[in-house]
Amino acid sequence: MLSLDHDLWAKLSGPYGSAEDVPHLLQQLQQQFSQEVFDELFQEYLFHQNTIYTATYAAMPFLARLACTTSDTAVRKELFINCGIIEASRDEQHQMPYPPSWTELADEVGSSVCTQMYIEYIKSIDQLRSLTEQVLTDVAELSTDDTEKRYVLIADAAFRESYIVANMLMTFSDGDEYVAECPACANEVYIWPDEHHAVPLKAYEQDPVFQPDQEAHAIIPASVWTDEETGILAERTARIGEQTLSAHLPYLAGKTTCPSCREKIAVWPALLSTFIM
Ligand SMILES: [Zn+2]
Repeated sequence: MLSLDHDLWAKLSGPYGSAEDVPHLLQQLQQQFSQEVFDELFQEYLFHQNTIYTATYAAMPFLARLACTTSDTAVRKELFINCGIIEASRDEQHQMPYPPSWTELADEVGSSVCTQMYIEYIKSIDQLRSLTEQVLTDVAELSTDDTEKRYVLIADAAFRESYIVANMLMTFSDGDEYVAECPACANEVYIWPDEHHAVPLKAYEQDPVFQPDQEAHAIIPASVWTDEETGILAERTARIGEQTLSAHLPYLAGKTTCPSCREKIAVWPALLSTFIM
């Protein structure tokens, strides 16, 4: 792990430039976790508009260690969720020995420093993944907030390297409005709650916000989980008592008729297809 007084920190960057204040904030969190300090670190230096930075990679081992050593369930959950958001937003996966965007940094500090920093980031993701069972148990016992539960599922998916599912769940984080793409005609398919709430979700040709009067196409819910990910999500949502996604999953894994071209389509692959990385 990069020592907090290493001069490399001054050469790392966050969304607004230099990351030289990051070691100070990490040190404060190590002494005593504070939500205010963590929010400043996360928002000012580590994450902005689904993008992560060199400072994010360097800070991750500290956050993972904090998550693994704290006895405070709320702190562990907070770190698990936010590190999961970071990992879900990492778009340079499987790039060895380090992400291509670090070339300039490598020229300045040497490629072995970059390689080491990248290895330690990957290791910290393994550590966070090892907390999954604990966090799921804590959330099942203590949380009543479906949005928070959804973010735990997003982090879990990211740590399992199921990046597409993590990003899909994060993009549609309100939890009841999805946009898929028809594989036959490439038109968007709006997956929204039925206006009478008789069934959780139906398919629409136009955005129902702008087109309230349009034909709703029924979705035939799945009766078995044919996709590994929907199976895992069904198991997880049941375990942690999450209600919203749980009710929607059979429909997201179901079949419908494309409102534009009338082709029969499977919703889940159509939903994930716009997130292929
Ligand atoms: Zn179509």
